[in-house]
Amino acid sequence: TMCSRDPASNQLIDYKNKDSEVQKECTTASGTPVGVKDAIMTVGPRGPALLQDFVYLDEMMHFDTERIPERVAYAKGAGAFGYFECTHDITRFCACSLFEKIKKRTAIAMRFSVSCGESGSADTVREQRGFAVKFYTDDGIWDIVGCNTPVYYVRDPSLFPSLIHAQKRNPQTHLRDADMFWDFMTLRPETLHALLMYFSDRGTPDGYRHMHGYGAHTYRMVNPSGESFYVKFHFKTDQGIKNLDARRCSELMSHDPDYSIRDLYNSIKKGNYPSWTMYIQVMLNEEAKKSRFNPFDVTKVWPQKEYPLLPVGKLVLDRNPTNYFTEVEQLAFSPAHMIPGIEPSPDKMLQGRLFAYGDTQRHRLGVNYMQIPVNCPYRVHVKNFQRDGAMTVTDNQDGAPNYFPNSFCGPKESSRALALQTCCPISGDVYRFMSGDTEDNFSQVTDFWTYTLDNCGRKRLIRNLSEHLCEASQFLQERAIKLFTMVHSDFGRLMTEALNTARISKF
Ligand code: NDP
Repeated sequence: TMCSRDPASNQLIDYKNKDSEVQKECTTASGTPVGVKDAIMTVGPRGPALLQDFVYLDEMMHFDTERIPERVAYAKGAGAFGYFECTHDITRFCACSLFEKIKKRTAIAMRFSVSCGESGSADTVREQRGFAVKFYTDDGIWDIVGCNTPVYYVRDPSLFPSLIHAQKRNPQTHLRDADMFWDFMTLRPETLHALLMYFSDRGTPDGYRHMHGYGAHTYRMVNPSGESFYVKFHFKTDQGIKNLDARRCSELMSHDPDYSIRDLYNSIKKGNYPSWTMYIQVMLNEEAKKSRFNPFDVTKVWPQKEYPLLPVGKLVLDRNPTNYFTEVEQLAFSPAHMIPGIEPSPDKMLQGRLFAYGDTQRHRLGVNYMQIPVNCPYRVHVKNFQRDGAMTVTDNQDGAPNYFPNSFCGPKESSRALALQTCCPISGDVYRFMSGDTEDNFSQVTDFWTYTLDNCGRKRLIRNLSEHLCEASQFLQERAIKLFTMVHSDFGRLMTEALNTARISKF
């Protein structure tokens, strides 16, 4: 608990013990030593104050501006650092440098988060978790910005802002709103697959160490001969799956709303390094063409019997951030950060995110956010034709030519990257293809209900769902029941019973 002196509680003691050098003098931001830190400059002992008091103004002005916009989604988070180690040869599928040799290690950063709560909210709540991995590879940054469910709620990125709005605060009451939530979800049945996972046991993981991660989207891998394959990424926790039951969840929400951050910090600090085994599922181009489901629909999984998990390597976290703001709040991921050997698939949701992440980081951190040490591809020397912009803190590439092509030894194109670029035919009609009902929204959800959950799991799902749904308007409850019945008649019936009981106990 928080009262015991766990490693996180002892952070300041550790700092003091480690820093055996003589205590340094404090300064202003301009580096000038400060003689008096606890009194503003005034006329006489009772004031008023003077504008010339730079020591005070310097501190106050910085304090006034120390917040940057929090992420609109996935704001509450924790991060850590470590390495990826390649354990299996997948070079027949992928030419990415981090997979080139077994035992090769690549530095990583990971950030875990809670999807809709603000950065100060509890991190033990029933919400989807973010699961993002940054690889600092020899070929620059590769980010997999995934989550703890293998599927996402919507398949068309035009719905993403609404999906998040519906789960966040009501614009008038500033409260989370069951009507908003259930209205959106039930109007878009493709949300059912992710919703069932959200209300299942795995919707409340016991901290970030005891959950799986998924890349969720389909990507394309390119092998050294230039052949391409579709892939999905899985990261299975080596700590084992552990979830919080409802009672423990609410206990932690009041006693330790930062439980998940604390758990990760303490575990790493104690040398108990969390790890995940990375797997891929591979689909051939011909299989993708013939597939009975749309392999680029992020509301679907690829059945593991047909597309088995192939082990790739291990992610190990062995270092806590030395400073939360610098290394976690500023840690900026984008699924568009890919390296030779990996490419996007046509997955619409992925295509939308390729744009949205960089856009939000430019808003939060500025146009030069990739210069921030934790984001910068430090294994390579960035050489391009971008210059200037707010907060340019590098050498700005000195005198190198800032235009391409040029005759003055500016950076040239990479033949290796060119060789790994796939060339694929695409043709079709330009149109806004509405996908709400044209895709199968139910079969895999029925499988999840029927085969993945056991009896006890189904009971807990019903309880978790009914407790939330009974807060919504009657017509929304009825609309939801209709969808649950389409998943499975038992599911509809059990939910009707559970809602009746919940209603009785409410009055
Ligand atoms: P499998 O039986 O081969 O795999 C079932 C998967 O479900 C396992 O990966 C299991 O993880 C995972 N799982 C178990 N409980 C939950 C839960 N409460 N929430 C989320 N995942 C859970 O089945 P199929 O591949 O044929 O898929 C059947 C259904 O399983 C799918 O429709 C989908 O709903 C679900 N699923 C499928 C995944 C996939 O990539 N194919 C991934 C996750 C879920 P573990 O092995 O660690 O227990």
